[in-house]
Amino acid sequence: MSISKIRDLHDAFISKKKSVSEHISESLAHIRARDGELHAFLDVHIESAEREAERIDAKIASGDKLGTLEGIGTALKDNILVKGTVTTAASQILKSYIASYDAFVVERLRDAGAIIIGKTNLDEFAMGGSTENSAFGPTKNPYDITRVSGGSSGGSAVAVASDMVPIALGSDTGGSIRQPASFCGVVGFKPSYGRVSRSGLIAMASSLDQIGPFATSVEDAEIVFRAIEGKDPLDMTSQEINEGVSNKKEYVLGIPEDFMKDGLDPKIEKVIRDSFKKADGANFKFVPVSLKDLSYALACYYIIMPAEVSSNMARFDGMRYGDRAKADTLFEVYGKTKAKGFGVEVKRRIAIGTYVLSHGYYDAYYLQAQRVRTLVSKAFDEAFLEVDAIVMPTTPSVAFKLGEKSQNPLAMYLEDIYTVPANLAGLPAISLPIGKSEGMPVGLQLIGKRFADYELLAIAKRFEETVA
Ligand code: GLN
Repeated sequence: MSISKIRDLHDAFISKKKSVSEHISESLAHIRARDGELHAFLDVHIESAEREAERIDAKIASGDKLGTLEGIGTALKDNILVKGTVTTAASQILKSYIASYDAFVVERLRDAGAIIIGKTNLDEFAMGGSTENSAFGPTKNPYDITRVSGGSSGGSAVAVASDMVPIALGSDTGGSIRQPASFCGVVGFKPSYGRVSRSGLIAMASSLDQIGPFATSVEDAEIVFRAIEGKDPLDMTSQEINEGVSNKKEYVLGIPEDFMKDGLDPKIEKVIRDSFKKADGANFKFVPVSLKDLSYALACYYIIMPAEVSSNMARFDGMRYGDRAKADTLFEVYGKTKAKGFGVEVKRRIAIGTYVLSHGYYDAYYLQAQRVRTLVSKAFDEAFLEVDAIVMPTTPSVAFKLGEKSQNPLAMYLEDIYTVPANLAGLPAISLPIGKSEGMPVGLQLIGKRFADYELLAIAKRFEETVA
């Protein structure tokens, strides 16, 4: 796509330099040219996208006013429901499931006139950090196809990074927007928990899941966020927040020195610290903050998340949802449906989750993890008394090789060390591309105060202008 920023596309549409149909056919051409190799998409909605483009072109021709997102091609992670189309969550069990309603975010995007190009690949039910757990094969990194895209929203990250679409949506339970954004050199934003409705998102771990955008700039991520945020009566945790932005001359950013040591590749650390040097004094001041308690976050996440997963996966039993296996008794149907339909990582998490919730272990694991979750939130609250946002790497390494960690779940889980704290505390967090290490993109993460999403985006925009 020659133009990939929303405002540039919008200007081109209204000045008639480019039609919406041209934009959509460029997007489809890019998918045709590159997706055989990269495998970002599970489904492309060619006809409906072209029809929508024609409708908006007719609107432009008649001189009607055009909204900012109108005509902009958008990809959606395939755990977000689009009425009347297959939504698989990259699982065998849902390979023929047709969504009966639109997710809230899809309704909002349609209202804004965005055009849905297709559904993107993910780790099965969003469980993973490389998109290798997809039942339909992995998504590859556009910078080096021997490496992973990251995950679980790897397809959405690659669709944006390789110019197939200007924007995409993903979901982030423990880093699944920020980590693939970091691996693929794009912007990925996880809003505060409760800021975007989860209605129509296939649940992974309900107290952690949040939908958010991928884009090539913070401004574009903000435009998408503005369209999808707000209260939805169908999600009782969603909220309407009226938030002002401070527009400070200088922002104070906290570096969690005691936490940043854990497993960080020195080459990544250098790129991150160089960006601090560049920004220091130029509208930013950096101070160390103590966030030692964040080192418990990963262990805590890998108890709370599977506990919720084990409960959320119960509905895929061949009766309520899922391709039903043939068997003689009800319990055999349940057993065979799940044995056949779920991949190994989903089964592993159901087993761990059932264990930590079982009588006798509940107090030792689940309840204890809930207490640690409170500690993590408190540690952030204290740090935010002194700083406007927290800065740290998004990931401890650059995108790893395909197959490198897929047989070693623990090594894979360690990749999430820097992303899970924001989910546990419900905070907004964004990953910005700030440089490269050995040719692969490096992401910087900024974490903001709860429900101060626009403030965080303003800080990220400033950082982007200063460091890019
Ligand atoms: N990589 C993390 C996990 O495997 C995060 C997943 C996510 O955010 N959906 O749980």
